Amino acid sequence: MEIFKTLNLQKDIQNNDIENTENVRCLIIGSGPAGYTAAIYASRANLKPVLYTGLEMGGQLTTTTDVDNYPGYPGGVTGPIMMEDFKKQAERFGAVIRFGIVTEVDFSGKKHKVITDDKKVIIADAVIIATGATAKYLGLASETKYAGMGVSACATCDGFFYRGKDVAVVGGGDTAAEEATYLAGLCKKVYLVVRRDTLRASKVMQDKVLATKNIEILWEHETIDLFGVNGVEGVTLVKKKGTSDEEIVKIKIDGFFLAIGHTPNTEVFKKYLETDKVGYIKTVPGTSKTNVAGVFAAGDVQDPHYRQAITAAGSGCMAAIDAERYLSELK
Ligand SMILES: Cc1cc2nc3c(=O)[nH]c(=O)nc-3n(C[C@H](O)[C@H](O)[C@H](O)COP(=O)(O)OP(=O)(O)OC[C@H]3O[C@@H](n4cnc5c(N)ncnc54)[C@H](O)[C@@H]3O)c2cc1C
Repeated sequence: MEIFKTLNLQKDIQNNDIENTENVRCLIIGSGPAGYTAAIYASRANLKPVLYTGLEMGGQLTTTTDVDNYPGYPGGVTGPIMMEDFKKQAERFGAVIRFGIVTEVDFSGKKHKVITDDKKVIIADAVIIATGATAKYLGLASETKYAGMGVSACATCDGFFYRGKDVAVVGGGDTAAEEATYLAGLCKKVYLVVRRDTLRASKVMQDKVLATKNIEILWEHETIDLFGVNGVEGVTLVKKKGTSDEEIVKIKIDGFFLAIGHTPNTEVFKKYLETDKVGYIKTVPGTSKTNVAGVFAAGDVQDPHYRQAITAAGSGCMAAIDAERYLSELK
């Protein structure tokens, strides 16, 4: 039954008989640093790229104020301005940027079918996926209240602002251990808030955390709330929740870092693309190629390790070059 469905979709694609259909040489999905960089390179290579921005036009950086680590901005830049610069640069070379969300794909044939939220059908020779990954939060109202005022999900991005200060990191896995160790090199004191009485992190990372003098692990603690007047000044925790020893603990901190994981935005692609167990798209090492010919992935959506604007932009460049080479061989 599934085979017939796929064949029919491919027949539709070949006949091009679906209303509202557009043929595109290079389709880019996502408007963060990876998507816009891919658009700059693809338009300069005459691939006439069409880019769908998704709901968050400009990507994750539009939710932050200062970006101080992106090369080329010696005085720093705000995230929204930087992403507007990326967009303008892509448009300068003719990239078509459209607001819209990709809701469905069919990567079963040689041509790739992509459907958007306004029911437009795009038939693309090459697709670059740059849909990013979303940090997980605990779901507390105070996380939203103090967003950009002491709450962060990225130690590499924001740790510098907390030099010499006290911070807390929430999580018990490798990311939490890495973020705590990184912050310990900058901050006076790092509290690692761990829900259980063990760490899930690898033995090597555990040893590193335990050997770092200014990291204090708060075992069996859960975050209830954050407090402060003009930003985070402290965190309220519950120790040994649900036991007879349950206790409310308040500690003074200046920064609160979430390190409980990210969700890659790959749900719509999972039927066709290989992902790791978390959902990150797998690419051929050293390239942006996925398991489907003509479909490439760039940025945080395929990067569980670095998740920075510069690495996302770099891989966007790789994806456009890979797409250009693929398309030139199609001729
Ligand atoms: C608060 C904060 C501060 C940060 N600060 C820094 C910093 O100072 N320096 C730094 O280097 N990095 C920083 N980062 C990390 C950086 O933002 C990311 O590494 C980078 O944005 C990843 O780029 P990307 O292009 O892969 O994806 P993203 O920026 O996540 O963009 C993903 C894009 O995909 C779109 N999209 C998603 N699903 C769909 C869909 N179905 N259809 C169409 N479009 C879709 C979204 O709308 C979005 O435009 C920060 C992150 C956060 C959250």
